[in-house]
Amino acid sequence: MLIDSHCHLDPRTWGDDAGVDAVVERALAAGVDRMITIGSGYDIESARRAVAVARRHPGCVRASVGVHPHDAKDVTPAVLDELRALAKAPEVVALGEMGLDFHYDSSPRDVQREVFRAQIALARELALPIIIHDRDTEGETLRVLDDTNAWEMGVLYHCYTGDVGHMREIVSRGGYISIPGIVTFKNGDTMREVAAAVPADRVLVETDSPFLTPIPHRGKRNEPAYVTLVAAKVAEVRGLRTDVLATQAAENTRRFFRWD
Ligand SMILES: [Zn+2]
Ligand SMILES: [Zn+2]
Repeated sequence: MLIDSHCHLDPRTWGDDAGVDAVVERALAAGVDRMITIGSGYDIESARRAVAVARRHPGCVRASVGVHPHDAKDVTPAVLDELRALAKAPEVVALGEMGLDFHYDSSPRDVQREVFRAQIALARELALPIIIHDRDTEGETLRVLDDTNAWEMGVLYHCYTGDVGHMREIVSRGGYISIPGIVTFKNGDTMREVAAAVPADRVLVETDSPFLTPIPHRGKRNEPAYVTLVAAKVAEVRGLRTDVLATQAAENTRRFFRWD
C-alpha cells in the first residue's frame, strides 16, 4: 500500500471537479491507494472543497481542514465557526495544515500565533490530530505545541524541512514526520539525512501537490501519482525496497489519521 499523506486537490488548481477526479484516477493507476487532501492553504473555500472531494472519493480520499499561517490575517470568528462545522464531517481526519511561517510572513506573526493556538484548541475540542506547517520559526512552533500540550492529540510535521536534531525533538514527543519531493532534489542533502534518520514507525511520504514536483518532473505540476518517486527515494536512502518503505509509511499514515 502507498499513501500520499499530503496533497491539495483543489478544483481551482485542476480546472474543475472533473480535473481533480482525473488526478485521483491517475494516482490510483500509478499504484497510490489513498491520499489526504488538505483543505488549508488558500482560504476557507479550500476547506469546503477538500471535504467535497473526499465525499466524491470515499474509497481513497480523506480530508483535513484548517487555516494556513499565510491566511491567518483573514480569520474571523465566523471562519473558525465554519471550520468547526466542516471538521465534524465524517470525511475529515485531521485539522491543518496550521502553524507558523516566518519565511514568507504573509500574515503578521502575532496573528499567526493567535490563529495557530485557536486551531489547537479546536483540535482538542474535536479530538482530531494536527498537521503542522513550520517554516523558519527557530523552534517556536515546537514551543507552542509544548505549551498547549498538543502532542497528546497527535502531531504530524508535513514537508519537514528542519535538520536531524530538530526532527529528533519532534519524534521524542511522539510526533510524526512527512517527507516531500525535496528529497529528490539536487540540493536536498539535509532532507535525505532526515529521511534516512526518521524512526521507521514515524515516517510518512507526501507530494504537497501541486507544489514541490519531484525529479524528473520538475517544471510540471505536482500530483499524488508522483508520491511513488518520493517513496522510491526515501527507500533508497534508507537502504530498503520501495514496497517495504511504502508499506511502513502507509501503516504510519493510517495509524496517525485513524484511517482503517
Ligand atoms: Zn505547508
Ligand atoms: Zn500543503
